[in-house]
Amino acid sequence: MRLMPAARSLAAAVLALAAACATAPRRAADAAPSPAAVERPRPYPVLETPEFRRAVERGTRTRTGRPGPRYWTQRAEYALQAELDPATKRLTGRGTVRYHNRSPDSLTWLAVQLHQNLFAPGAARVAPTPVTGGMELTRVAVQGTALAAGVANDSTPGYVVEGTVAWLRLPQKLAPGATTELAFEWAFTVPPDGAPREGTDGEIFYVAYWYPQMAVYDDVGGWQTDPYLGNAEFYMGYGDYDVSLTVPAGWLVAATGELRNADQVLAAGPRARLAEARRSGSVVHVVAAADRGAGRSTAAGSGGKLTWRFAAKDVRDFAFGTSDKYLWDATHALARDSAGKSAVDTVMIHSFYRPERVEWAWDQSARYARHSIEFLSRFLWPYPYPQMTAVDGVVSCSGMEYPMMTCIGGPRDTLRLYSVTVHEIAHMWFPMQVGSDERRYAWQDEGLTRFNQAQAMREFFRGYDLEGIARDLYLDLARAGGEVELMRHGDQYPSNTPAYSVASYAKMATNMAALRALVGEERFLRAYREYGRRWVNKHPQPYDLWNTFEDVTGEDLDWFWRTWWYETWTLDQAVAEVRADGGDVAVVVEDRGLAPMPARLTITREGGAVERAEVPVAQWLAGARRATVRVRASPAVVRVEIDAERRFPDADRANNVWTRGGAAVGGSR
Ligand SMILES: [Zn+2]
Repeated sequence: MRLMPAARSLAAAVLALAAACATAPRRAADAAPSPAAVERPRPYPVLETPEFRRAVERGTRTRTGRPGPRYWTQRAEYALQAELDPATKRLTGRGTVRYHNRSPDSLTWLAVQLHQNLFAPGAARVAPTPVTGGMELTRVAVQGTALAAGVANDSTPGYVVEGTVAWLRLPQKLAPGATTELAFEWAFTVPPDGAPREGTDGEIFYVAYWYPQMAVYDDVGGWQTDPYLGNAEFYMGYGDYDVSLTVPAGWLVAATGELRNADQVLAAGPRARLAEARRSGSVVHVVAAADRGAGRSTAAGSGGKLTWRFAAKDVRDFAFGTSDKYLWDATHALARDSAGKSAVDTVMIHSFYRPERVEWAWDQSARYARHSIEFLSRFLWPYPYPQMTAVDGVVSCSGMEYPMMTCIGGPRDTLRLYSVTVHEIAHMWFPMQVGSDERRYAWQDEGLTRFNQAQAMREFFRGYDLEGIARDLYLDLARAGGEVELMRHGDQYPSNTPAYSVASYAKMATNMAALRALVGEERFLRAYREYGRRWVNKHPQPYDLWNTFEDVTGEDLDWFWRTWWYETWTLDQAVAEVRADGGDVAVVVEDRGLAPMPARLTITREGGAVERAEVPVAQWLAGARRATVRVRASPAVVRVEIDAERRFPDADRANNVWTRGGAAVGGSR
């Protein structure tokens, strides 16, 4: 990473200011220096953290964006059994976790996430939520021996619960390469609608963050145990799940993974229709309104209950939805990459919704999910999982991603149902496969996902411009002075403002569009897919994304990362003047904002010929505020526009255009 030229001295800046004042007209209002005369900040390079530097030195990371030769991740195998009683809204669970220590460190303490404790009385939160009591842990054991509650310290085995994290002090150190088996028993009340990302409205249950889950122990920072406060999302490790869920007979269960005992829980009709959905390309009504109920949609069950068994490999979480009101549609998608290669032969698509949700376009949901999987497989790389399920959930799910699943709540029309479906399905790539730390770097999954969503919507709705909408959301907040930078923990944004969503979603999506324009679409896609390929089922840091783009494109883009991730500088380029200059025409471009970007000029001549010119970003990075582009004088220049294609987020478009015989005229912002 190269260093930028040193900033000009303060004395030089003062002299420049004085010169501007000396030549200014007398009226006080005109005495301010022109933008061209004042010093500009120049972005210094991205500086990696000491933790990242140490990871490079240890060989687990690199400065090329590739995982290092000694890169490792932890791994766990979950075997969980739970019963949900819809009448009392209680979930009772038990299970084991085989935890493999693949790190080079001996671990005395293990950290376990108890996200349900967000709803415990007195829990720390950044937003109001319902209060349920949180998770009641009734047994924690290691290798078959129960740990005492509330007594752990450096010399005494046991466990303590601190908010949404339980710390287990092991009886013996877990050596590098060793495996231990933890056992848990627990219960909680499913929160009502209004809880973020989960809950029940009485008819349907969307059950998430419902089991003790290993926190991430990674090569850069060790245990990451930032509490779940309700806004910032998750950081989760990879593992395999074998989950048995007991619900009343007649209740359908939609879950992460593949259903392993369809012949025990489904009636013959739905089983046959599922097979048809796998064969045919059409959307099949696996369970229609008249098929609902025990003995029709599901088997009759014993004691009025059925146990559904699901398995999932290489996923970072497990969630499920259940209701006796659900209809069930299914079809399949063919996931092929841009060259036509496929990863899995057939991806099953499932959609579960209540009949009245047809008003909200839910009868189109399976078709929307199929297009999402097929488009994103082409745009990124093939979807690797066996199925994808969309669930009509509580309103407060809004749209929330889980491995192979999404919970979608609230009123929708066709545009808004497709939009949320493709967004949540795009999360199956980021962060489900590319497992970044969402809590600390929300942009690393949300911004990429919003960008990918925009590409799919452009195809599905033939030209729909979500990139433009994202750019305007960002610019509106930036112009109002409310913007906050991207490199900030997700729980440290001001509440009740769009600052978090603009930074993490809209501005980051805009950054991706600008990056594509900067390096060209072909190189952009190569680097983007390479970043994903390198980090599937791993935990990339922001540096790994940036370094991969620099590695693949061969460009030093530190100025771009520094400007658009760490600062709230805005871009404002202007055509200051177009004049005859000797035998040529001089086009004077001013950089009036603080964010540097190449200035791309479209020059139109009398007769309609159009040519391009560019002020390279290096001129602004060297400190310039003005740059002159010389072009031949004839045919006469009639129009000059900066960034006519609107690739970059210019905050003031009114000064981007010059026309002969008129003052500078701009389009709308
Ligand atoms: Zn999202």
